Amino acid sequence: MNRVQQERWPIGVFASIDAGLGVHLDVVQDLKIPTIQLHAPHAGSRTAERARSFVAELSRLGIRLTAVVGGFEGESYADIPTVERTVGLVPAATRAERLAEMKEISDFTRLLDCPVVALHLGFVPHDRRSPDYQAVVNVTRELCDHAANNGQNLHLETGQETAEALVAFMDDVARANLFVNFDPANMILYGTGEPISALRQLGARVQSVHCKDGLWARNPGDEWGQEVPLGQGNVGMERYLRSLKEIGYFGPLTIEREIPQERDRQKQEIAGAVQLLTDLRKKLLN
Ligand code: MG
Repeated sequence: MNRVQQERWPIGVFASIDAGLGVHLDVVQDLKIPTIQLHAPHAGSRTAERARSFVAELSRLGIRLTAVVGGFEGESYADIPTVERTVGLVPAATRAERLAEMKEISDFTRLLDCPVVALHLGFVPHDRRSPDYQAVVNVTRELCDHAANNGQNLHLETGQETAEALVAFMDDVARANLFVNFDPANMILYGTGEPISALRQLGARVQSVHCKDGLWARNPGDEWGQEVPLGQGNVGMERYLRSLKEIGYFGPLTIEREIPQERDRQKQEIAGAVQLLTDLRKKLLN
């Protein structure tokens, strides 16, 4: 389908095949959600044959895949220091193997005919002159270049950095296919900044978004905030969508509800989120 003809703000949901936090395709189908971001399946499932059958299934169900999100063995979101130690391409001990795996995920994404790969990079070191910071810049450049060869953009998910730090980092990486997957709840959960002002600062760099909600922690940045159903947290969904409109973002609104241990509740709350976003969309786009 031609991009111009695609509807504005199509609803989406974060989905999984065999791994991760997302909903399964039966839920996507039941709730009649037209787009998904996919949590990258396990290495064993990233074969050409699986790609072909998945593409055929999406086509049969009329679902458009908008991004493939990488994740790694050994990552833990237990608390903020654990994220710092375990998540993304930042931890030095696993950096090389994870870079290789992300490249392989990018190759698999190409088989799915999807133009975007995304990930949580991890906590980027703050000292821009440190060798460790430069190493993270280099690894991100290498991944961007690999994705570019596959005709893809790379989206960094927000959360671990303030908007200022993320902009500075992206400027240092200096790659034309590097963009942001904006998650407003993560800004609250990690305590890295008020989401709406962060969104405005990131502006046109934002090329995909999550619709997720959260409550501020008592001591933001030291302890986790709490993820809650969409519309019940501190993001302010109407303000969020109005701000997306202001920055000219009309791509998918991808709902994320990270309670895979409670599948029934997850489905019910995603259905509520679909309703909320559908109503707001009607109100704001007309
Ligand atoms: Mg997210």
